Amino acid sequence: MTASHSTDIVVFGGGIAGLWLLNRLRDEGYNAILLEADGLGAAQTLASQGIIHGGLKYALGGSVTDAANTIAALPARWRACFDGTGEIDLSSCEVLSERYYMWSSASYRSKIKAFFGSKSLQGRVQAVPRDEFPPFFAEATVEGSLYALPDFAVDTPSLLSVLRARYEASIFKVDPRDIRFTRDASGCASSVTLRAGTGIGEAVRDAENDTVSIDAQRMIFCAGKGNQTLIDAAGMRKPASQLRPLNMVWVKKAGLGSVFAHCIGEDFSLTPKLTVTTHTADDGMPVWYLGGELAESGVGVPDDELIERAKRLIADLFPWVDLSGAQWGCFAIDRAEAKMADGSRPDGALFIAEDGYIAAWPTKLTLTPALADGVLAELAASVTKQAGDGTPTLDALAQIFPKATLAKAHWDR
Ligand SMILES: Cc1cc2nc3c(=O)[nH]c(=O)nc-3n(C[C@H](O)[C@H](O)[C@H](O)COP(=O)(O)OP(=O)(O)OC[C@H]3O[C@@H](n4cnc5c(N)ncnc54)[C@H](O)[C@@H]3O)c2cc1C
Repeated sequence: MTASHSTDIVVFGGGIAGLWLLNRLRDEGYNAILLEADGLGAAQTLASQGIIHGGLKYALGGSVTDAANTIAALPARWRACFDGTGEIDLSSCEVLSERYYMWSSASYRSKIKAFFGSKSLQGRVQAVPRDEFPPFFAEATVEGSLYALPDFAVDTPSLLSVLRARYEASIFKVDPRDIRFTRDASGCASSVTLRAGTGIGEAVRDAENDTVSIDAQRMIFCAGKGNQTLIDAAGMRKPASQLRPLNMVWVKKAGLGSVFAHCIGEDFSLTPKLTVTTHTADDGMPVWYLGGELAESGVGVPDDELIERAKRLIADLFPWVDLSGAQWGCFAIDRAEAKMADGSRPDGALFIAEDGYIAAWPTKLTLTPALADGVLAELAASVTKQAGDGTPTLDALAQIFPKATLAKAHWDR
């Protein structure tokens, strides 16, 4: 049996892109629903370091790149949301650190690199005098320079949970197998059919073969790595995606100091040698989450070898830290983006609209508000809002699909 329902817009994927867009769409009066195949944030968003970038790291080569320009205005926009004055009220979200730093060893070349980066950017970058170092760097036993960037770091679980809570009744967990799209006589997206009831791995409800059909004027794919499967199922012609892998490392130990810094190496690479953020695990213990060049060059490296590399790097950068007895872990994760001819990272958020289907990639967590602007502008001219707030459809779908809940951070899985 197939039950039929109707809404204005169906968003697929409950990472930052899908949840942000759902909030903007509903705030603007569209009847939109979000379908998530796993836990909210399960893929890239909860794996991200939560840094809201002002672009300095993209200017490390000494020149203003397009990427640096595009992203420079975003921290102020996010800060307005966290202050409760922006486009979405995020005042109840947790900011992990109001400051993000760049730490470079005392070498001349490193200092020059940070200097050129700072000069070429809109955002203010300040050299921090030694007597004003934050507590972790104040204990440094080696010489180094610290720069405060316009960046800051957010707690992604709290961000997702606020975005979910605002429109919880519009978010459902679905089984991603056998999603089928139908077009109308003019070739435009008109409906999606899904298996009724459950997500993968959960007990199937009443009738295993029941399906649900949802009519909508737009189908928006914000499914990260899952976008390509949806693009193929929809028969979109143009868009394609690319994956760029990382192998991230985390270390957990009681008493770890609070570190939010890119550590710049001697090799003038565009990627910081190490990018560190500090989080709190479910058991209350501090966790350092380690990315940057360590994670890029760690792809395909066996876990124990990567962890040894991380230990050596930290001993070199922060020799005053004792990590004996710490708990270590690492995991592979792909960054999913719009496909670029040379496989490089796109400079901005990208989406492609075709026949009522939209495939969207924020490229960075930071760029999500810009992605939503673009998608909303695209919809404004072409989607007719249904009357009412869609409550009957939401109530009916709630009888069919379970609620989507938040996934866990990797160190708590
Ligand atoms: C290790 C790492 C660190 C990063 N750090 C930062 C950072 O510090 N700052 C920054 O700005 N950016 C960072 N990024 C980039 C940022 O995390 C991503 O650009 C952003 O999270 C992508 O969000 P998304 O919603 O598009 O995708 P995702 O977060 O991947 O969400 C996609 C969702 O779609 C769901 N899904 C998949 N298939 C289907 C389907 N068929 N139907 C329904 N749902 C489906 C998935 O379960 C998932 O929940 C980082 C990325 C990585 C990998």
